[in-house]
Amino acid sequence: MSEGRKPKNPATHIGNHKLDPATLMMGYGYDPSLSEGSLKAPIFHTSTFVFEKAADGKHFFEGITGKRPGGTDGLVYARFNNPNQEMLEDRLALWEDAEEALVFSSGMTAISILLLSFARPGDVILMSGPLYAATETIIMKILSQFGIGHVDFPAGATREEIDAAMEKAKTLADEQGGSVAMIYLESPGNPTNALVDVQAVDAARKAMLPDTPIAIDNTFLGPLWSRPQDHGADISVYSLTKYAGGHSDLVAGGLTGKKALLDKVRPMRNTLGGICDANTAWMLMRSLETLELRMSRAGENAEKVCKFLRSHDKVDRVAYLGFLEEGTRQRDIYDRHDLGAGSTFSLYLKGGEAEAFRFLDALQIAKLAVSLGGTETLASAPAAMTHLSVPDERRKQLDITDSLVRISIGIERPEDLIADFSNALDAV
Ligand SMILES: *Cc1c(COP(=O)(O)O)cnc(C)c1O
Repeated sequence: MSEGRKPKNPATHIGNHKLDPATLMMGYGYDPSLSEGSLKAPIFHTSTFVFEKAADGKHFFEGITGKRPGGTDGLVYARFNNPNQEMLEDRLALWEDAEEALVFSSGMTAISILLLSFARPGDVILMSGPLYAATETIIMKILSQFGIGHVDFPAGATREEIDAAMEKAKTLADEQGGSVAMIYLESPGNPTNALVDVQAVDAARKAMLPDTPIAIDNTFLGPLWSRPQDHGADISVYSLTKYAGGHSDLVAGGLTGKKALLDKVRPMRNTLGGICDANTAWMLMRSLETLELRMSRAGENAEKVCKFLRSHDKVDRVAYLGFLEEGTRQRDIYDRHDLGAGSTFSLYLKGGEAEAFRFLDALQIAKLAVSLGGTETLASAPAAMTHLSVPDERRKQLDITDSLVRISIGIERPEDLIADFSNALDAV
């Protein structure tokens, strides 16, 4: 945040007592005395900022252009920074105890600018699979046109499989005259819910590619149920459109992590654009005040709904992280990494597309829409919608059957959701 607006003692502690992010979301990084005493931060609708002195302008621009590394310490121009975005970044970083955060106009903007900041022609990106479809498009179809290669391993891979993929990525990078620019993960994978062993990836990285950063898309479980930076990841990636925004009324993205790494990303954002605008940042600050309440309730609801669904005779199975079997490798990864099972899961009905469609068409409370993490429950059919363009072979591999229904549970009364699902199952 710019020095000018930084409260003198950002109160993250009372004495030795460390305050929880849930508490700090209500005002951290904002000083009412700088805004006429307004309890809540105003929305700073402006495209540019007035310098007191010409020398200040020069000093601030040295930070923007990277002449002085680490970002600027003054407000300059709204493509580079604005007060709402800076406050939001300070608050977002708190959730994973990250050194820094950057916010963007969408999750995909965050991901594109992150990759463009690290990968150069000849380099290779090592990735887990599946990734969010548009992320796969960037890596496989767009960056490949600029001579950037990729090697992937399945989300549930063992240490041996990760080692092998890393070796392959190194060899390919050597052949192409580049290096392995980034390890890019997503956990859990969508719609498989397969978890990545981040600790194993980090151990393999330390042994083989010590200079390669690990970024991980933490949209599905973060920041409440998963803290990958505690397990070796350097950067967490968020579509803030989902749980962080939480009301299905905005689109935004974020990165949190090590300052030295994000310092490489910020100049790219300054140049390309794609920063989170003041209005959206303000909406997100409001959303973060209830993040813990919303995610906790959604998580409790999902557990109840999944228990109901699992025992229904029209249901084949429910791929929900809370049901991972004791003794399996996925359960072991879950126990080591995660703090909750989330509220997004896959329901496999008995039958095929007709059954899935009848179920979806009969829902009354749950809305038929893609996306997740909102206050309202959503349901969709990946094979016919989000994953329609995935080739049959890959779809089979990822277990995206025609009878699969993807569900994101909201914060409604669980009894009402169960009544809705029960009624819809009767219609199948
Ligand atoms: C939605 C989503 C994205 C993309 O975010 P946008 O805000 O839609 O650009 C990336 N990753 C995951 C896991 C997502 O669910």
